[in-house]
Amino acid sequence: RAKELGRNNFCYYSPELNRHSTERLIMEFALSTAIQNAQLFLLYQPKVDLLTNRITGMEALLRWRHPTLGLIAPDKFIPLAEETGLIIPIGYWAIREACAQNRKWQDYNTTRLRVAVNLSLRQLNDSSLIENIRAILDETDLDPRYLELEITETAVMSNPDKASALLNELRAMNISVAIDDFGTGYSSLAYLKQFPIRAVKIDRSFVQGIPANHDDSAITKAIINLAHSLECSVIAEGAETQQQYDFLRDHDCDSVQGYYFSEPMSADSFGDLLRTQTTLTMH
Ligand code: C2E
Ligand code: MG
Ligand code: MG
Ligand code: MG
Repeated sequence: RAKELGRNNFCYYSPELNRHSTERLIMEFALSTAIQNAQLFLLYQPKVDLLTNRITGMEALLRWRHPTLGLIAPDKFIPLAEETGLIIPIGYWAIREACAQNRKWQDYNTTRLRVAVNLSLRQLNDSSLIENIRAILDETDLDPRYLELEITETAVMSNPDKASALLNELRAMNISVAIDDFGTGYSSLAYLKQFPIRAVKIDRSFVQGIPANHDDSAITKAIINLAHSLECSVIAEGAETQQQYDFLRDHDCDSVQGYYFSEPMSADSFGDLLRTQTTLTMH
């Protein structure tokens, strides 16, 4: 149908038709009831210090388990959530859940770690963001310094003035910010100097090419050096091999997150891992 319209020069409207396709409406309805039906959950992936091999924090990653559609990865539903605005309630659900979970871990472990939660563009533009995050921290009784928000370079750059104001407010609250998927947004790190950023995450697409791919290796090295000159910590995402670890360590990257150390895991498994680490330190 869209094709026919396209041929008649109505192609401008075809995305609209797609958007209302039956499958999409089913997904949209299902997603709109996912919170109340307790179908959303978070997995946690460790961030590991490259020198000590110790866990320094974790990223909370959203999953959706639907009774008939099965387990759905964020790449399949975050874009839909963004377009429909459902990302707002879902995003707050994720922040609250991650903060509450981190508070629980802190009750049972001596080491206190920072939990990172992703924020998409639409969430960034929500005028109640600061107020709601403050309420969540209050409710869950988590010290703000143990919350980090991951914001993509592209999202920050879509409205740098607004982002700058927001990041400064977060900084004033002691919440840290990491720039996610760095290197894909074509902005210069020097430009990012004006933002209060704790860490830069090198995009997985570069990490996967090292050490064999010369360009990826060069870009990775450049990001590490520039980030350090701006006094930002650097983390490489998607590290899968010993070779990547060695390269990153040799070039002074601070930490890594990737399948080589661990895939994202359930809160319970993460708790077990933390206890092992705590025990190891005590000996
Ligand atoms: P991201 O924030 O860049 O998260 C990193 C992604 O890389 C995760 O995919 C993670 O599972 C994957 N990953 C980690 N290590 C490796 C590795 O060694 N190899 C490979 N191939 N992949 C690795 P995931 O969990 O599917 O999440 C995809 C994206 O969805 C995230 O990218 C983030 O942008 C978004 N997302 C996830 N949870 C949330 C959330 O709670 N809120 C919002 N707004 N977005 C979220
Ligand atoms: Mg992230
Ligand atoms: Mg990322
Ligand atoms: Mg990504």
